[in-house]
Amino acid sequence: MRYFPVFLDMQAADVLIVGGGSVAERKWRLLERTPARITIVAPRLTDALQQVAEAGAIHWLSREFSPEDVRAQRLVIAATADAAVNEAVAAAARAVNIPVNVVDDRASCTAITPAIVERGDLLVAISSQGSSPVLARRVRERVERALPANLGAFIDVAARYRDRVREQLAPERVRTFWETLIDALWREGFVESDDALARRVERALAQAGDASATANGRVSLVGGGPGDPSLLTLRALRRLQDADVVLFDRLVNQELVDLARRDAERIHVGKRRDRHTVPQSQINALMVEHARAGRQVVRLKGGDPFIFGRGGEELADVVAAGITVEVVPGITAASGCAAYAGIPLTHRDHAQSCMFVTGHRKANGHLSLPWQAMAAPQQTLVVYMGLATLAEVCGQLIAHGLAPEHPCAMIESGTLRSQRVVSGTLDALPAQVEVAGLTGPALLVVGTVVTLRPDLAWFDMVAADA
Ligand code: SAH
Repeated sequence: MRYFPVFLDMQAADVLIVGGGSVAERKWRLLERTPARITIVAPRLTDALQQVAEAGAIHWLSREFSPEDVRAQRLVIAATADAAVNEAVAAAARAVNIPVNVVDDRASCTAITPAIVERGDLLVAISSQGSSPVLARRVRERVERALPANLGAFIDVAARYRDRVREQLAPERVRTFWETLIDALWREGFVESDDALARRVERALAQAGDASATANGRVSLVGGGPGDPSLLTLRALRRLQDADVVLFDRLVNQELVDLARRDAERIHVGKRRDRHTVPQSQINALMVEHARAGRQVVRLKGGDPFIFGRGGEELADVVAAGITVEVVPGITAASGCAAYAGIPLTHRDHAQSCMFVTGHRKANGHLSLPWQAMAAPQQTLVVYMGLATLAEVCGQLIAHGLAPEHPCAMIESGTLRSQRVVSGTLDALPAQVEVAGLTGPALLVVGTVVTLRPDLAWFDMVAADA
């Protein structure tokens, strides 16, 4: 970011425009909308500028530019048709560190002006930092279309109510109050009149005053998907951006956590096989405690919260505490990894069913799984948390009737750039995985669908291109 965006206060400020032609006039029309005192230095003016000067709305110095003219200006605009004069203006301003904009000469500028979208006090400034003004204008058109016309009226009303809302509501609820109201108005397109808008704020404020703080708190069990942040659902993204507190696991990609509001509290409750850094009961208690304090709590989980994620237990505790809660589903590792590895989970010629099991050992060290059902034909089997128990799982599947040459694959860090896939057969995969040094997170897929991968591994091709 070479150019740092700032807004200059033009109240009681002086601005100098050098030049009196049509370009200068265009710049004047923009500046005229601010309270700045405008001085124009130019031997001649366009008719329009001439009239404004005669009416006393601008101060006209009818002569050539002189370097002292830049003194005490907040901003200087060089808008003559003469490159040498423009450069002299720029040099004079630069010498005293006054921001200067030279029309059509970025190299001489110390300030460039953005494309603007305005809705009352809301000001959106868009810049390509000089690299593609056409793109900046196109973006401006899109923003123009996206912003409701009477957003400005809402800002006026909001400004009038700002202090009252702050007085009446607890500090941590002020932001949610405005967010809820703005979201509701946005859905309706801000079509209301100024008076109606004011009544809406009054009503919302009365309601918010009635409700207890607890009623405002909420827990969202959010599925963060298998890793690639662009696989988040829209709702998951919204909840992250609205969250006051985010509790996340070790498996969750840091990039997802970074999507939360900058000032949201982030709590790492990282789970590692058998060594839960924060015990489950404490995670549940934390969620309840923060929600009771009126906060928006996001419990960010890898994949889908309801697939091998203890989402059910967490939900039960929050429901029992009488707190508003929701579950935001996510793409589970099986879907994400299979898609990115080019292994369809079902296929008319290969598998009519798909089974998800966990390869995680029970506390007593046992791996008690429905082996017979897992070894069924025409089925794809997906084993989560199966890296440590891979050899045992493969051995049991063979013992229960699958051929030693039955295809299978281990997918590590699925959907991420670092994704690795080791494919082989039940009798050979454990040794191959060992040689490859896979450390996880990794998912085992067993089934003849794995043989489709050589033709369907689209992500490997994309990754190789990048
Ligand atoms: N709720 C999660 C699963 C949590 S269990 C979900 O729906 O995906 C954790 C296991 O998920 C890991 O041991 C691994 O087997 C699997 N897993 C999660 N993300 C993965 C990834 N990006 N690549 C491979 N396996 C993954």
